[in-house]
Amino acid sequence: MKEKVDIYKEYCAGCGLCHSAEAVQYEYKNGFFKPELQQNNFSFCEGVCPASGNWLKNIDPKKKWGKYINACVTWSSDQQLRFSASSGGTITAISEYLLSKKLVDEIIHTCVSKQNQIKTEYTKSKRVEELRDKTGSRYTVSSPLIELLQCISPEKKYAVVGKPCDILVLRRYLDVHQELNKNIIYLISFFCAGVPSENANRKLLDHLKTNEQECRHLTYRGEGWPGFATAIDDNGNKHSMSYNDSWGKILGRDINKFCRFCMDGIGEFADISCGDAWYMEEDGTPDFNEHNGRNITFSRTKKGDELLKMCVKDGVLIAESYEIDNLKYIQKYQYERRSQVYSRVLGMKLCGRKTPYYSLRTLRKFTKDLNEIQILKGIAGTIKRVISGKM
Ligand SMILES: Cc1cc2nc3c(=O)[nH]c(=O)nc-3n(C[C@H](O)[C@H](O)[C@H](O)COP(=O)(O)OP(=O)(O)OC[C@H]3O[C@@H](n4cnc5c(N)ncnc54)[C@H](O)[C@@H]3O)c2cc1C
Repeated sequence: MKEKVDIYKEYCAGCGLCHSAEAVQYEYKNGFFKPELQQNNFSFCEGVCPASGNWLKNIDPKKKWGKYINACVTWSSDQQLRFSASSGGTITAISEYLLSKKLVDEIIHTCVSKQNQIKTEYTKSKRVEELRDKTGSRYTVSSPLIELLQCISPEKKYAVVGKPCDILVLRRYLDVHQELNKNIIYLISFFCAGVPSENANRKLLDHLKTNEQECRHLTYRGEGWPGFATAIDDNGNKHSMSYNDSWGKILGRDINKFCRFCMDGIGEFADISCGDAWYMEEDGTPDFNEHNGRNITFSRTKKGDELLKMCVKDGVLIAESYEIDNLKYIQKYQYERRSQVYSRVLGMKLCGRKTPYYSLRTLRKFTKDLNEIQILKGIAGTIKRVISGKM
């Protein structure tokens, strides 16, 4: 039984809900926080954790972008927000709309820690102005649900913004605790390729010629699209690095173990989820040159679709239609991700390693667009990484 719960520790996505709901404590290990789960936490984890895999039976493997009602390109009509936000400012614009129309009382989301630029805090925003300070992607450990049940008040309404794994957990929790659906009204998410460790962030600061004690401002992107990873130290010295280099060469190389087995990087369980709507180079690759930001935005529920339409109708968001067949070129990683998990899990099992509780038979259904050679190459690649200590 202990071993069973250990898998949830090893493959924890880090949302924090087990702390809020079950008072689980966390230990710091290799740049991540890992839950100190006990046997009695097993059924909780089985009920909500992404690593349980039991939720995959509700996912249609043919729908590469998940189930959705509408998909379009959007951006904030406020030029300043569009510029400062991560992509097109869609999430902040929707959050602002929800507050200003009093559709919710507070937004529960994530911002940089006041103490340390490579850490995050969960935060509640009550006023539109508060949201502007918290735009942008934090490419580091975050646990937006860590105080969720303690911070919601029974007479208030909330929207929660989180990574796809946070939102998957919360959606499953709400399915069981239906009484909370009168308080938690909207779930909003974004595409996510993985959560970089705090150690990777330390490395990034080192490349930006500062460290966590001296860094007083760190942004990963934004102030343009994609913008630059930029650090400013105590003396006002400023150093920047391209988004492509900071993610590709540093942050993306040290991500949470579960992220390598993630089956939802697209926010399938949100009411609305957004990713980068990169322009395309002539060779079909994403264009990471600076442009005005824009999101690819999916409304995934009726409620999310109505909200998106209201934001567009009231001029908060600008929307354009998008040829969804092109998304596989600019979001190649997300397009291929689910199909590759089968080989990865099988490779791990062949090496005698623990894996998330995924059924191989279910994962196999996601590999229909791969041939046997590609699957075998995936298995071999995983075995090689295990042998070389990279996994
Ligand atoms: C770890 C990570 C991985 C990502 N991977 C991808 C990817 O593979 N493909 C892709 O297209 N885009 C990725 N993104 C970026 C994401 O697409 C954009 O944030 C999204 O398009 C929203 O843009 P926006 O301008 O609407 O966001 P904004 O208006 O700037 O709002 C961002 C919102 O996200 C919240 N937030 C920021 N960081 C975190 C965090 N670490 N955890 C929880 N909430 C957070 C903020 O509180 C804010 O509410 C990633 C972002 C993160 C943080």
